[in-house]
Amino acid sequence: MEECRRGVPETVRRVAEEEGVRPEKLARRVAEGRVVVPAHADRREEVRPVGIGEGLRVKVNANVGTSPEVCDPDLEVEKARAAVEHGADTVMDLSTGGDLGKIRRRIMEAVDVPVGTVPVYEAAVEATSRGRAVVDMDEDDMLRAVERHMRDGVDFMTIHCAVTWDALNDLLRRGRLLGVVSRGGAIVAAWMIHHEEENPLYEHFDYILELAREHDVTLSLGDAMRPGSVLDANDPAQHRELLVQGELVDRCREYGVQAMVEGPGHVPLDQIPAVVRLQKRVCDGAPFYVLGPVPTDVAPGYDHIAAAIGGAIAAYHGADFLCYVTPAEHLALPDVRDVIEGVIAARIAAHAADTARGLEYAVKENEEMGRARWELDWERQFELALDPERARRYREERPPQAREQCSMCGEYCAIKIVREALERQRERS
Ligand code: SF4
Repeated sequence: MEECRRGVPETVRRVAEEEGVRPEKLARRVAEGRVVVPAHADRREEVRPVGIGEGLRVKVNANVGTSPEVCDPDLEVEKARAAVEHGADTVMDLSTGGDLGKIRRRIMEAVDVPVGTVPVYEAAVEATSRGRAVVDMDEDDMLRAVERHMRDGVDFMTIHCAVTWDALNDLLRRGRLLGVVSRGGAIVAAWMIHHEEENPLYEHFDYILELAREHDVTLSLGDAMRPGSVLDANDPAQHRELLVQGELVDRCREYGVQAMVEGPGHVPLDQIPAVVRLQKRVCDGAPFYVLGPVPTDVAPGYDHIAAAIGGAIAAYHGADFLCYVTPAEHLALPDVRDVIEGVIAARIAAHAADTARGLEYAVKENEEMGRARWELDWERQFELALDPERARRYREERPPQAREQCSMCGEYCAIKIVREALERQRERS
C-alpha cells in the first residue's frame, strides 16, 4: 500500500497489464485499500501477482489441506496443483493434520499463485498434540502461530480478529440454529468463553499489523459469525462482527497493511445483494471475500452448485473473491475430483458475474464461443471452455454420425439447418 502511495510497483504493473486497466489507476486503488495484491515480501518474484478488488476480474480461491482423519501431504500437493491447473487464482492451505509447517511449505513450493493460511488452526493443533484441549492454549500460542506463518512466506492469512464479546453476547442472547460454523471462529469463540476474556487476536491486533507490514502479508479479516444456515443469516452476531471488521479495515489502512474482508456463509438469495452492499459500505470498499454464499441448505453432494448460484449473485453485486465450495462440502475431506469440480463451479460463477458486469474479457470470450458454436468449430469450443477436458470427453464418448454436428440433434442440428438454408438463399440471390 505504501509503495502504491508513492508510485506503481512492478507487481501492480503486471496485474494492471493482465486486467487491462491503467497501472496508475490500479495503484491508486491499492493505496486506498480497494484492491489487494497478496504477495509476501520474500515471494514477489515467485508468485504470479493477482489483484483482488474493485473493477477487476472476480477471483477464485481453492482450499486444500489435511485433516486429523485424512492426512496425506502428497494428496494435498496434488489437489493444490489440480486447483491451479483448473484456474484457481489462489490456494489456501487449511491443514489440521500431520506436520503443518512441512505441508505448508510444500504447497507453497508446488504452486505459483498466492498461498493463504489460517494460523489459529496450527495453534489449536499444537495444543492438542501436547495432550491439552484447544481452549487450553494461551494467547501467545495464537500470536506465535501468526508470526511463524508470516516468517514462512505466506502471502495472505485469515485472522479471526473481529469476533468480540459483543458479537458473542448477541449470539448467546438470540441463539441460532447452528451456533458457530467457522472452524477458526469456533476455536477463538470457545477460547473466549472458556477464559472469559476478550479475543486476543483483536486485543493484539497492532502486533499482528506490525508483522504484516514487515512481511507485506495481506490480512483476510475472518468471519467467525458467518451463518451456517440460511435461517441464521443476517442476525445481530453476524452484523456486530461486520462492524468490527470495518473498524479493523481502517486500522489496516493506517498501518499500510492490505486487507480483505470475509463474509457469509449461508444466505438466502434475496438477501445476498444487501449483504454485499452493506459489507462494502461498512468496510469502505475493501475487497470482499465470500465463502459461497450458499443459498439453500439441502444440497449436500451438490453444494458446489449451490455456492456457484450464490457466488454469481454476490459477485454481480460487488463481491470480489469467491472461495470455492466442493461437492464434498459438509460431508468429507474433498479429493482431487472434488477440488476440480469446485474450482470450475466457482469459475462459472465468477465468469457469469463478470459477463453481467460487462468486463471486456468476459464479453469477448462469450462472443468467441458463440462464433465457434455457429461455425461448429469444436476445437475452438474446447479451447474456450472453462473445462476443456470435460467438454472434449463428452463429445468423444458420444460421437455424432457426421463430424460437423453433435449427437444431441444429429441430422436435425439447428445450426446446420439454418446455415445451409442461408447458404442456399445466398446462392439463389
Ligand atoms: S446438433 Fe444440436 S446441440 Fe449439437 S451443435 Fe447442432 S444444434 Fe447444437
